[in-house]
Amino acid sequence: MCGSGWSSTRAWERRNERDRDAYEAWAELGRQGQALCSCVSLALWLIPAVFDDLSDLYQQVILDHCKKPRNFHELSGATCSAQGYNPLCGDQLKMYLAMDGDVIKDISFTGSGCCISKASASLLTDAVKGKTRGEVQAMFEHVHEMVMTGRVVGDVGKLAVFAGVHKFPARVKCAILAWHAVVAALKGEGQPVSTENDDT
Ligand code: ZN
Repeated sequence: MCGSGWSSTRAWERRNERDRDAYEAWAELGRQGQALCSCVSLALWLIPAVFDDLSDLYQQVILDHCKKPRNFHELSGATCSAQGYNPLCGDQLKMYLAMDGDVIKDISFTGSGCCISKASASLLTDAVKGKTRGEVQAMFEHVHEMVMTGRVVGDVGKLAVFAGVHKFPARVKCAILAWHAVVAALKGEGQPVSTENDDT
């Protein structure tokens, strides 16, 4: 009996530790977010996330890419670029693409913004490298559908971490900003894109 009592206590402690870690991770996202994006919506997102293993995993991926964004630099060999601005949150990104014919040979980004926008741009760069224009357009449509509705369609890979964003409309623009900028760059549009002019 003593053994099982100890085990269950340890299990309970581990559960508490895991929930505390999850809470702190989301709290960290909130601290790194900007005021309009993070106040009410992020607080609401915190509550179910604390008790959801999948959300634990997803938030760790987002935090990792927020703290250590991949391909976060200017690209000297870029053949096209586009800027994106989300006035709701203040996110500003610039995407750089080096095309080899129809294929994205290399991609990077610079800018500043909340954790969601930075993590989204970082994961995007990993996801689209080596893809064709048509493949990237299809991925954009899948990600757009996912962040608007929560439905995961097609193979979105790690980008599935943003499926929960649909519950919080203020965060949708943060998550989709880098995608708008990449699509604009692929179309050769010189003007900065703004989420203000889009349904998302
Ligand atoms: Zn944002």
